[in-house]
Amino acid sequence: MSTPNRAAVYARISSDIEGTGAGVARQVEDCRKLAAGLGWQVAGEYVDNDISAYSGKRRPEYERMLADLADGLVDGVLVYHIDRLTRRPIELEEFLGALDRARVRQVKFVTGDTDVFSGDGLMMARVMAAMAAKESADKSRRVARKHQQNATEGKPHKGATRPFGYEADFVTVRADEAEVYRQLVARFLAGESTRSLAAWLSANEVPTVTGSDWQTSTLKNMLINPRYAGFRVHRGQIAATGQWDPIITEEQHRQILAKYAEKKNSGRRAPQRYLLSGMLRCGKCGVRLYSSARKTSRRYVCLSGPDHGGCGGLAITADPLERFVADAVLYRLDTSELADTLAGRSSSDERAADLTTALDEATERLEQLALAFANGDISMREWMTARKPIEQRLMTTQRQLAAITHTTALTGLVGNGEALSRSWQSLNLSRQHAIVEALVDHVVIGPGTPGAQALDPGRVCVVWRH
Ligand SMILES: [Zn+2]
Repeated sequence: MSTPNRAAVYARISSDIEGTGAGVARQVEDCRKLAAGLGWQVAGEYVDNDISAYSGKRRPEYERMLADLADGLVDGVLVYHIDRLTRRPIELEEFLGALDRARVRQVKFVTGDTDVFSGDGLMMARVMAAMAAKESADKSRRVARKHQQNATEGKPHKGATRPFGYEADFVTVRADEAEVYRQLVARFLAGESTRSLAAWLSANEVPTVTGSDWQTSTLKNMLINPRYAGFRVHRGQIAATGQWDPIITEEQHRQILAKYAEKKNSGRRAPQRYLLSGMLRCGKCGVRLYSSARKTSRRYVCLSGPDHGGCGGLAITADPLERFVADAVLYRLDTSELADTLAGRSSSDERAADLTTALDEATERLEQLALAFANGDISMREWMTARKPIEQRLMTTQRQLAAITHTTALTGLVGNGEALSRSWQSLNLSRQHAIVEALVDHVVIGPGTPGAQALDPGRVCVVWRH
């Protein structure tokens, strides 16, 4: 057997060997020393950093070494310890196979003195690989168990960045940010879009925890995060009550989820451009009116054709109509009639409770099905089939719940219509729309004189929500 003159040095550092002193530099150095002692020539180093072989992630340098072996560029391999080379038994077999095909018989380890080519050495290598694998698996299990335990005890999961609203200990509430969060929730539930809220945060120079800009996706994740209602989530499920103070109530959290579900279902993502979008009906044919901008003015029009199905024979200038309806809404906020209507609506709390129960039941049923599939009790097809009606029910319930929460837009506004009318122009369109929509079911527009710019109030019939 000739002395290798194109030996490969392989080193790998993984996050689980801190403290053992086997850093990459030392592994390489020790391998080179061994090579010198044996009289081998080292042709190349192959170093993988911070990757656990057990995790199954790819090791590019290891693969490059196998490729070089196959190409005949390597005639010997030097490794610090066998656990650097392979940590899963299957990998050891792959490596031995690669050596065999390349007819390379020279492999040396700095520690352990394993000779993979004598019968006992091979056996020993296999046992060591199996033990290394078990140790890794045990460690993964220990870590997983620890995570699980922390979750059920309600301890926070400490990620790289603290959550907005909490200090770096993930537990102590930051009063200023908590207040911002509550405002975000209130405005979101009142119908403002995530996009509009992100713009509001930026305009007010509220910093994110990382110092980057506010993104709608960041904001959405923040709004739907159960942590703010005091829940500890583990593997996507609520595992326990968290060991920190909630910033909002459980009920608010549910309303947020319902609101997102409603938005998703209605597919309405573009920002509102017209105050009365979706609320107007044609007085001739009854279908909804669409906004339509012309060079000089904005209008709402009845559209004919397959997508819209209207008579196409009605239009109204937007500006005076919007002022008129807004005035009516602000006036109504101060009427005793509205106060009575809202008093009637409080019975909707009971309904909300019923819907919430239905929501919980459906969610639980879905989880049971997932479990049954995971256990092998039902097939993938059965699982998918069984899911459909439950998901449908879930969506319907979420929409119904969202409809009830329209009342939320009016919190603090009833009886304050006059004060609100003074600040109305300063509210953004999204907020204005939410307030109008909370009170107005729809508005019927009657036929008018074509081209008239002034509003004929006789054409407008506001139908209030009850
Ligand atoms: Zn029409």
